[in-house]
Order: sequence, then C-alpha cells, then structure tokens
Amino acid sequence: MADKSLQSLISRAAGLCRGAERMVAFTGAGISADSGIPTYRGAGGGLWSKYDPDKYANINYFRKDPSYYWRFFRDVRHSFLDAARPNTAHEALAQLESSGKLKAVITQNIDGLHQEAGSARVLELHGNTRRFLCQQCATVFGLTVVWERLQASLPPTCPECGGELRPDVVLFGEMLPETVLREAVEAARTADVILVVGSSLVVHPAAGLPVLTMEHGGRLIIVNVGETPLDGVATLKIDAGAAEVLPQLVGLMAQ
Ligand code: NAD
Repeated sequence: MADKSLQSLISRAAGLCRGAERMVAFTGAGISADSGIPTYRGAGGGLWSKYDPDKYANINYFRKDPSYYWRFFRDVRHSFLDAARPNTAHEALAQLESSGKLKAVITQNIDGLHQEAGSARVLELHGNTRRFLCQQCATVFGLTVVWERLQASLPPTCPECGGELRPDVVLFGEMLPETVLREAVEAARTADVILVVGSSLVVHPAAGLPVLTMEHGGRLIIVNVGETPLDGVATLKIDAGAAEVLPQLVGLMAQ
C-alpha cells in the first residue's frame, strides 16, 4: 500500500476511535508475526508445517498419542516462547488500555505476549501455551515445572499425583472456556468500536465476535495483512502490518 494512502487510512481510523468510549481489540496470530511467531495462514508458516496440525492440535489425537504434542512442543518452544518478545503493536494496545479507552483485549493467541506488553484485561479464548493442567487433580503448572517433567518422562506427569499433564490450550474438538467466552461476548456486545488486528477471521466461534459488535451498533476496524470475510462490511479496513499501523494509530488518537 502506498505510504500516502496508508497514512490517510490510519488518520481515518484514529478519527473513528477518538470518539469511542468502549473500545475492544480482537487479536489473532498476525499481531505476533513481527515478534517472530509465524501465523498459520498467510506467509511464513514454516514453524508449524513440520508437524501435522491434525495431530498436535486435536483433542482426539492428543488422547490417543499425547507424546506427539509434547515432541512438537519441545521442538517449537524456543521460537514460540523463549525468543518471542512483544512488539510495538502489543505495546500500543497496552498503552490504549492505560489511557482508559480500551476495555479489553480478546485474543485467539496462546503466546502470552499481550500480558508481557502490559495489557491487564486479556481474554484468552484459546488458552495459553505457557500454562499446563494435571488431567487427574487439576493442579495448574507453569512452564519451568513442566519443562523439567518433560525431560524426565514423555508424556510428562504431575509432580503432585502422577497424573498426565496437558497444555491449557483449546484443541480442535474442544469447547472454548465458558467464563472467558461469556466475558468476551459481553465486551464485544457493548463495544462501540472493535479493532481487529492480525486475524484471518475464519476460526469460529471466535470470529463471530466482531459481527456481534456490529449487530449492536458498534464499528468494525480491521488491521490485517490479507483479506478477511468481514472486509466488505467493516467500517474501515487497513491492509498493512500491525506493528507499523498500531503505534501510529494510538499516537494520532492521543492528539
Ligand atoms: P491466522 O493464522 O488464521 O491469521 C493470521 C492473519 O494475520 C492472516 O490473515 C495473515 O495474513 C495476517 N498477518 C500476518 N502478518 C501480519 C502482520 N504483521 N500484521 C497484521 N496481520 C498479519 O490466525 P488467527 O485468525 O489468529 O487464527 C488461527 C489460530 O491459530 C488461532 O486459534 C490461534 O490460537 C492459533 N495461533 C496462535 C499463534 C500465537 O499465539 N501467536 C500463532 C499461530 C497460530
């Protein structure tokens, strides 16, 4: 996109957001692309394609052969969790929340980068890959403990009761966490602007939330590289990188 037309779209978006009182952000894998985590869709999915998503991201397969997930996790941990840091887009959203304008970040991401950037109200629809649960006693564990257990046995077991551990992420074939979904629906329903950042908007039911905002009279602004099914009904679409657009957008809103 030519610089001039991008600038004018960002200015228009800032104008729409300036008057808003209950903004909500809805983020997907694209916001973390500039942190070095490839998206599934769009360019650069190499990290994921070494393994079969029908196996590592599917609850039925996890039940059958949990070791497949843990081998995948062991392999991607460095690029996915250790090397990735929040980028300027995550930081811009945290800043917008501190200013009182942004009420929540609803995210499909499982990387924890919004919290690391300083966002306080993050509604994680698909869980968090740094958190783990014992399937027997339901104790929650962090990465350090589970990494140690993973060196000792595959699949790793609970240090409390010996039960099998699982990641606290929503795998295909599972329901979204009820409380988080309820809060996200409420935030989307009452938002006057929903800012979608880096999502292909094809994973349901999460992708239905921006539609809910529009049905209740709110505006939809999309910042995404590439098309989404809601481009035609959005108030504004900016087809450009999140880390480039968001700091400018938030900067202009403050003027
Ligand atoms: P997606 O992979 O379906 O879509 C991401 C979109 O972002 C694509 O349209 C892509 O073109 C666009 N994009 C790429 N780089 C961008 C950039 N710099 N700025 C703006 N947009 C950019 O992601 P999704 O819609 O979030 O859904 C896929 C599922 O994959 C989710 O359920 C999520 O849990 C999971 N996922 C998460 C992560 C993560 O936590 N970082 C990474 C990969 C996949």
